[in-house]
Amino acid sequence: MEKRAKLYEGKAKILYATKDPRMVIQHFKDDATAFNGEKKDTIRDKGVVNNLISSRLMEILGVVGIPTHFVERLNDRDQLVFKVQIVPVEVVIRNRVAGSLAKRLGLKEGDQLHRPLVEFYYKSDALGDPLVTVDHVELFGWAEHEEIEWIVETCHRVNDALLAYFAGIDIDLIDYKLEFGRIADDHGEEALVLADEISPDTCRLWDRKTGKKLDKDRFRQDLGGITEAYHEVATRMKLM
Ligand code: UDP
Repeated sequence: MEKRAKLYEGKAKILYATKDPRMVIQHFKDDATAFNGEKKDTIRDKGVVNNLISSRLMEILGVVGIPTHFVERLNDRDQLVFKVQIVPVEVVIRNRVAGSLAKRLGLKEGDQLHRPLVEFYYKSDALGDPLVTVDHVELFGWAEHEEIEWIVETCHRVNDALLAYFAGIDIDLIDYKLEFGRIADDHGEEALVLADEISPDTCRLWDRKTGKKLDKDRFRQDLGGITEAYHEVATRMKLM
């Protein structure tokens, strides 16, 4: 499948049209940003490693029955995915306290939550992706009531699968961000699927024994060894 026109360029990925109007190519760049674009750099090999990791995680979720946009990995940096209309909310699932949850509520990083927490953030760079409630999502028409219910239920299924998978490679899945999109299903009806990416850019992944951060916090917090940490995740996943 060849790339045609560039449709959209984001911070870490580019979307290209293909000859099939139902599909697009998702290209992974080495660019990294944090703090709503204030901190910028490139991380060597990041696009290649995130393409590998996200492809495998989407495949694993597909196997357990989660519908995703993922079709196939085409090469080092490209994957073929279904074209979706993105639901304009970022859904964050948390198993332990970290990042903005620790900051906002004055909680201790690393504390275990007694059940997974699902949060919604409105996708708006201009507003800095504000935290919103399910009621905002419904009232402003970003998703319908039934869609929100499906998204929350699906997040819990994704979380069960990912927690078990990462535990098997000695990694604690602290938190992560998911995005969902709408596609026309085989009957021409709109259906929701898991979209975007799942990678060390969008997850907090800590080594189970040492607590070492194997994710984008190494970039956010200037901890160094970013490429090595991403490679470590891919190596444990037997992708490198
Ligand atoms: N996250 C993301 N994209 C965003 C915001 C958050 O992928 O635009 C991920 C982040 O990597 C972490 C989780 O979602 O794994 C929770 O992030 P948090 O709300 O703590 O925000 P942060 O303090 O990391 O900006």
